[in-house]
Amino acid sequence: MTPEEFRQRGHEIIDWLADYQAKISDYAVQPATQPGDVKAMLPTVPPIEAEGFDRIIADLDSVVLPNISHWQHPRFFGYFPSNSLGSGILGDLVSSGLGVLGLSWQSSPAVTEIEEVTLDWFRQMVGLSPAWFGVINDTASTSTLVALLCAREKTTDFSLARQGLQAEPRPLTIYTSTSAHSSVEKAALLAGFGRENVRMIDVDSNFAMQPAALEGAIDADISAGLTPCAIIAAVGGTATVSIDPVSEIADIARRHGLWFHIDAAMAGNAMILPELRWMWQGVEGADSVVINAHKWLGVPFDCSLYFVRDEPHLLRVMSADPSFLQSQADEKVRNLRNTGIPLGRRFRALKLWFAIREQGVSGLQARLQRDIGLAQDLRAKVEATPDWEVIAPVVLQTVCLVYRPKSVPSHRLDDFTRAWAHAVNVSGRAYITPATAAGHWMVRVSIGAISTDAEDIEAVWRAIQQTADAIVPGFS
Ligand SMILES: *Cc1c(COP(=O)(O)O)cnc(C)c1O
Repeated sequence: MTPEEFRQRGHEIIDWLADYQAKISDYAVQPATQPGDVKAMLPTVPPIEAEGFDRIIADLDSVVLPNISHWQHPRFFGYFPSNSLGSGILGDLVSSGLGVLGLSWQSSPAVTEIEEVTLDWFRQMVGLSPAWFGVINDTASTSTLVALLCAREKTTDFSLARQGLQAEPRPLTIYTSTSAHSSVEKAALLAGFGRENVRMIDVDSNFAMQPAALEGAIDADISAGLTPCAIIAAVGGTATVSIDPVSEIADIARRHGLWFHIDAAMAGNAMILPELRWMWQGVEGADSVVINAHKWLGVPFDCSLYFVRDEPHLLRVMSADPSFLQSQADEKVRNLRNTGIPLGRRFRALKLWFAIREQGVSGLQARLQRDIGLAQDLRAKVEATPDWEVIAPVVLQTVCLVYRPKSVPSHRLDDFTRAWAHAVNVSGRAYITPATAAGHWMVRVSIGAISTDAEDIEAVWRAIQQTADAIVPGFS
């Protein structure tokens, strides 16, 4: 493409995306796609001759649009909000368009310095003290893996410089709760701790980690000759947005000299609202925190913010300095490759920088407050309806509910719950996620698409009730 062709095609694509945004509520939230449908529409071999760009754009309408789930749809209430502000989309486009790689400060200075400044803005936005240093990773899974690598090397006094974990005299143990995200256990496995050394601490009736049980497990492991290494707490657990008691856990971590990582992947964004910072009171006692700005805040996926207090330790664990990447500026700059796993660095800071500036902190705060208000409206509706129940505190934008009609026997409730959730999703009227909490199925309504308003909350609640009532006879 010449620059002129690029200009023309670029305008077409932006128009196409703007049209999509304008008419998104006309689509069924979830496509009727069956496994293999999309592959069957595509040639099995690549084109030998160039195809016209018109044909590529046409396939967006015929192949892509009919077969995607519409995450930006006003009645998308699945998983968690991963909403895309226009300014964030454009920031991402600029990142690709510039095509620069931050291998080192020298390889493209603005990549590093805009990231440094934007992360420091974000640190201030969520009320973390200047003791914290932040970088961007792809996902929380990566950020938590890096946290556990840092923990492992702290506890073993840099076993990686010797024979690694394989030569440790005693197994290292990790502590998290049964409400933790699956990425925590995965990180522990990838970091070499082994499943048998991961303790899943019991939770209370609000699905929060029980500090007494945590302390008991640590003491038991010490008595058994093991070496406790790290605690991972959730501020905003996945299923119910449960809040682990950060202050008490920080005390336990300090007493035992353990690394303390906070997984605030989704809920951490809400810390831009000072009135909600009770949720992670005691955070200054942690060693690392992850917040996904691509969840709820509105920065397009992927943009996971990883904050640590001990930057030199992070650098010591993650550094690699091959000769071809050394430069005369190294004494005076940060080389962010030494904070994470990949060498190459995308200019991800642009989309965060664009979004914060275009919205202002107050704009971002207002949108989160709107979603929190909508969640309270839905909670009130559910609680006011006989046989419906909200099963977990609604602290942010997720409402977890169950329906227990008297005619459905309790041993069939789990199947009933999954069945009506599935039926709502198949209807295309709204998209919701069934999940388990305390061993039983419930349904999460996760609010936060940018286009969602009060009418959409009415609509999902109507769709849920009508769909569930229609299948009650089949389970009675
Ligand atoms: C979404 C989520 C994760 C995983 O996020 P990725 O960025 O997709 O790896 C981890 N923990 C919590 C609490 C989450 O909500």
